[in-house]
Amino acid sequence: MPVPDTIVALSTPPGRSGIGVIRLSGIDALALTRKLLRKDHFSPQANRVTLQTIFDPESGEALDQALITYFQTPYSFTGEDVIELSCHGSPVLLLRVIDALLLLGARAADPGEFTLRALTHGRINLNQAEAIRDLIDAQTHAAVRQAARQLGGELSARLQPIKDALIDIIVPLESSLEFVEDDLPEITIEQINVRLSDLIQRLNDLASTFRAGRLLKEGLRVTLAGRPNVGKSSIFNRLLTFDRAIVTDIPGTTRDSLSELITIQDIPILLTDTAGVRTSDNLIESIGIERTRRAMADADLIVLVLDGTQVLTSEDQELLADARENKYLIALNKSDLADFALSNVCGLNGAPIMPVSAKTGAGFDLFRDAILKPFIATDIQDGSFLITNARHYDLLRRASDSLCSAKHLLESRSSEDLILLGLYESLRFLGEITGETTPEDVLSQIFATFCIGK
Ligand code: GDP
Repeated sequence: MPVPDTIVALSTPPGRSGIGVIRLSGIDALALTRKLLRKDHFSPQANRVTLQTIFDPESGEALDQALITYFQTPYSFTGEDVIELSCHGSPVLLLRVIDALLLLGARAADPGEFTLRALTHGRINLNQAEAIRDLIDAQTHAAVRQAARQLGGELSARLQPIKDALIDIIVPLESSLEFVEDDLPEITIEQINVRLSDLIQRLNDLASTFRAGRLLKEGLRVTLAGRPNVGKSSIFNRLLTFDRAIVTDIPGTTRDSLSELITIQDIPILLTDTAGVRTSDNLIESIGIERTRRAMADADLIVLVLDGTQVLTSEDQELLADARENKYLIALNKSDLADFALSNVCGLNGAPIMPVSAKTGAGFDLFRDAILKPFIATDIQDGSFLITNARHYDLLRRASDSLCSAKHLLESRSSEDLILLGLYESLRFLGEITGETTPEDVLSQIFATFCIGK
């Protein structure tokens, strides 16, 4: 379906930079550029870059010297005529050029609208569009790799044989409905049953990679908790590999929570150092302690830090009781000191304890692995393709559930049209992943999560 207007947006982040790229897409992209350059006969070769002067359409003042690239329809990202203007990266200048294009008749692009147009014109499918967003948002190398594989069409390629196999089951069922008065022969029922089981297994296998995929994309929230002076901030800094939190031996120094993003084995981890929990009359410290309790409740994993040179106190015991309501791990700190002893914390029956020294770094390799251990079922590094998107996961589960109901109906010798209903439903769910059968409102929800200029 042709889109009537021409959209414009800044495609590089706002702020000072070497260059800033403004993108125009639509039927008038070239005409608007001619006006901006004051060159009625500007006819650039497709995919070639030329240096041009940009003028203010009202005052005629020269605004910038820019590199202009023309991507001719249909061989552009959006499938429309696209012009990219690489201007100097002054935020004021870039806004002025965009304003000039708006004045000349372009419209400011909505978030993700360039990608939406690429989808509309069949240049990419829906899960590739989502992969572009995921690629831009990726926080680790592993997340970039997964998004790039999806952008390359790997998910669609994996789904296609499943869809084909489903159609191979649907076709004979449809014709038996049309042409045969009698029921399906027993042998055919058995064959269909085996093929359905195989398809259900394939869908479930793909869906089961989501646990690791979600971890890779969304990461984990890990909160360090413990009473003052046990070494939380020192552990935080060592995990960060640079000094962010203030370390002192005055109890209560960390009065508020600090969070930083780190990665362990390519998994993004939002690490939070909390105010030490102890009874306090100081108002600011009390607020900090309240935040600590909240950070503990929100965490995917609590690392309870204990001082291994001291026996457990009642405050430690209280914190342990809180931590046990969540997934938790104990970092028994200060292993470099002479009076450090595991026996100081005996009686923790079965709690996962990692002896560490924030001072020397001893025990940190095992400690880092232990942070991930409760969450990783499969090895993310082994190059397997992962489902990273909750929408895809949900649709895979639904497609599998529909096949399961169809299989039960088949086993109970229900009529072909009832069985077919489940098969078509499954096919529709798979089509929603790639965008062939995605309702409009779902599409707008997806594109609302994109950034402007993409
Ligand atoms: P927090 O209040 O729990 O955040 O504790 P800090 O990280 O501020 O540390 C409190 C004191 O313990 C500081 O003097 C640190 O230098 C010291 N400390 C922290 N970790 C270690 C450790 O592993 N070994 C030794 N010897 N001292 C440590």
